[in-house]
Amino acid sequence: MINIQPDIKFKKQLKEVSKSSLNECMQCGTCSVVCTLAPEEKPFPRKEMIWAGWGMKDKLIGNTDIWLCHQCGDCSTYCPRGVKPADIFSAVREISYQHYAKPKFLGKIMNDPKWFPFALLIPVVIISLILYLAGTLQIPEGPVNYSKFFPHAWLNSSFTFLWFLTIGLGIIGLRNFWKDLKMQNPDLKPKGSFIKNLFAIRKEIILHSNFSKCSNKKSQKIAHLLVFYGFILLLFVTAFAIYATIVHKYPLGITNPFKILGNVAAIMLFIGLGIMILNRIFDKENLGNNTYADWLFLISMFLLTLSGVVVQAARFLDWGIAYHLYFFHLICVWFIIIYLPYTKFGHLLYRMVAMVFANSVGRK
Ligand code: SF4
Ligand code: SF4
Repeated sequence: MINIQPDIKFKKQLKEVSKSSLNECMQCGTCSVVCTLAPEEKPFPRKEMIWAGWGMKDKLIGNTDIWLCHQCGDCSTYCPRGVKPADIFSAVREISYQHYAKPKFLGKIMNDPKWFPFALLIPVVIISLILYLAGTLQIPEGPVNYSKFFPHAWLNSSFTFLWFLTIGLGIIGLRNFWKDLKMQNPDLKPKGSFIKNLFAIRKEIILHSNFSKCSNKKSQKIAHLLVFYGFILLLFVTAFAIYATIVHKYPLGITNPFKILGNVAAIMLFIGLGIMILNRIFDKENLGNNTYADWLFLISMFLLTLSGVVVQAARFLDWGIAYHLYFFHLICVWFIIIYLPYTKFGHLLYRMVAMVFANSVGRK
């Protein structure tokens, strides 16, 4: 006998985010049959539909399969009852960012549009405070030189501190997720270290090969690869830029190889994000319900890329509004970094941990 305690609050939230009915499922199993990613044993998403109907939050949140889904939408298309398992999976992922958020309030403000102004205000206040402490909270005279506005020592130290703080807080959330995965699957014992299992799934991460098994549009895989590698390249170029400021080789000329790499990264991000945005607008049937988290991720990443390119042009062309644009770009950068584990960006990390767990317990 199993004692089930439905979490009504969770169920209401799941219904609101997924915009799908939770109690219409008749357990026919069509969704699991059409899903090309579902394993033979305990396939998804049929079993999750019972848990969703019963509001079993712990079962759904501490479940690897929620993250093994690549949102192709086939299960929703073929469901004879009009239930949308793909949207329900997407909603559980979104709720997970809040559930594992440390501190909790960051998860809340990043997943509720009414808190958006407050979420935006946090990086604005932090950056203004740093500029005030550095004594540069005014527009400098003469040719555009961003280091006169935000001195490199202040920029590098605050950026690095923030980055490590985000990673630290993100790791706490991921550790709790890992504990839940173990707790919800007591009969499965992970084998091998985390690193060993991560190495074993390297091909899937590097090539995003599950996208090819899934009936997702080819353009979705290309877009994900472009955004994934564009962002990694951008991080690499940023790390070099920090080094260049320390050895006094900054700013970089337009023909500097690292400047060129930075612009290549921007082009990759523009194309990848552009495809994702177009697919979200014109392919709702397959991609399902567009949520606040989807748009927040796409628009903030797009603005980050666009403002980076414009700020670069403003320096070379000595525009009068260069420092205002630079301030806006810094807000975009800090917005992405501070909130990385609490937005859709976090799916990179949660999916990776779920895949490592699945590999460690032999779930293929
Ligand atoms: S196809 Fe629809 S009705 Fe059938 S098990 Fe899946 S969600 Fe339920
Ligand atoms: S959206 Fe696609 S990958 Fe995800 S459960 Fe449905 S059929 Fe499977």
